[in-house]
Amino acid sequence: MRLAEFDRYPLTFGPTPIEHLPRLTEALGGAVEIYAKREDCNSGLALGGNKLRKLEYIVPDILASGADTLVSIGGVQSNHTRMVAAVAAKLGLKCRLVQESWVPHEDAVYDRVGNILMTRLMGADSRVIDDGFDIGIRKSWEDAMEEVRAEGGKPYGIPAGASVHRLGGLGYVGFAEEVREQEKALGFAFDYVIVCVVTGSTQAGMIVGFKADGRADRVIGIDGSGTPDQTRAQVAEIARNTAELVDLGQEITEGDIHINPDYASPAYGVPSAETNAAIRLAARTEAMITDPVYEGKSMQGLIDLTRKGFFPAGSRVLYAHLGGAPALNGYAYTYRNG
Ligand SMILES: *Cc1c(COP(=O)(O)O)cnc(C)c1O
Repeated sequence: MRLAEFDRYPLTFGPTPIEHLPRLTEALGGAVEIYAKREDCNSGLALGGNKLRKLEYIVPDILASGADTLVSIGGVQSNHTRMVAAVAAKLGLKCRLVQESWVPHEDAVYDRVGNILMTRLMGADSRVIDDGFDIGIRKSWEDAMEEVRAEGGKPYGIPAGASVHRLGGLGYVGFAEEVREQEKALGFAFDYVIVCVVTGSTQAGMIVGFKADGRADRVIGIDGSGTPDQTRAQVAEIARNTAELVDLGQEITEGDIHINPDYASPAYGVPSAETNAAIRLAARTEAMITDPVYEGKSMQGLIDLTRKGFFPAGSRVLYAHLGGAPALNGYAYTYRNG
């Protein structure tokens, strides 16, 4: 089945804008033109972000299942669980969330502001537990589904980041198709796409989508997980399954998967001094707000790779801004002086 034949429940405004970033381009020497595709501005649902593009392809399956409760999992400041709570509110379903302690970060308001604040406002039953970071399937998530069943509810499980869900890779196949259309109007094609990668289905979808015109390896994943081997294996698996699902007709190879592990340190959710410098540079040149968990790290990668000459002069680089700014509130002390 081709992508257009899959049911999609619209949750976003439509194609996201591609914006030229002239001051950031200039600040990085001017030899590489930097653009951003603003997935962070994609919806009116609770500030949006990349998870909504994935969930658009999952909602028809939720509705067909007859479930009354969405069950999902993420960190305390998870963007994904915020988006699952938003979808539940929008569809009139209940929502049970497991919020794990993924980040060794201490801030007095970390578990009260930003993503988790909005999640609770939208009525989700959000419970914080002590387990640490892991992108795989967790027992706590399976337990939560069992609890919903025991209380007479009908759960629909959505794994971390909506990634290992059968349909989780489709949204970002659509991203690639959208970019191709926008390139026609712009009159040029991008040479590279920069994207943050953690649970994997965003990059995996892009790989499948851009494989169609021979550009899969121009999608540069910047690891934010700090566990790049596990992330890479998950990207490979999702990309292969998604390629089959959309009848791509080509094998996804290891050479199609480019993941740079250099910017995730010191840990998932913990910014380095270089991450913070990148967040400040994007904010001060373009008023483009990135966060210390995801986009600040891919911004750091974009900046460092540009300065190091990784992109040949004259390249046009598309930075996929996937959202995530609400988490900044959990780092109020870190950025108290800007
Ligand atoms: C989830 C998320 C990512 C990572 O996407 P994956 O599909 O999990 O790899 C990057 N940036 C933001 C803002 C996110 O919420």
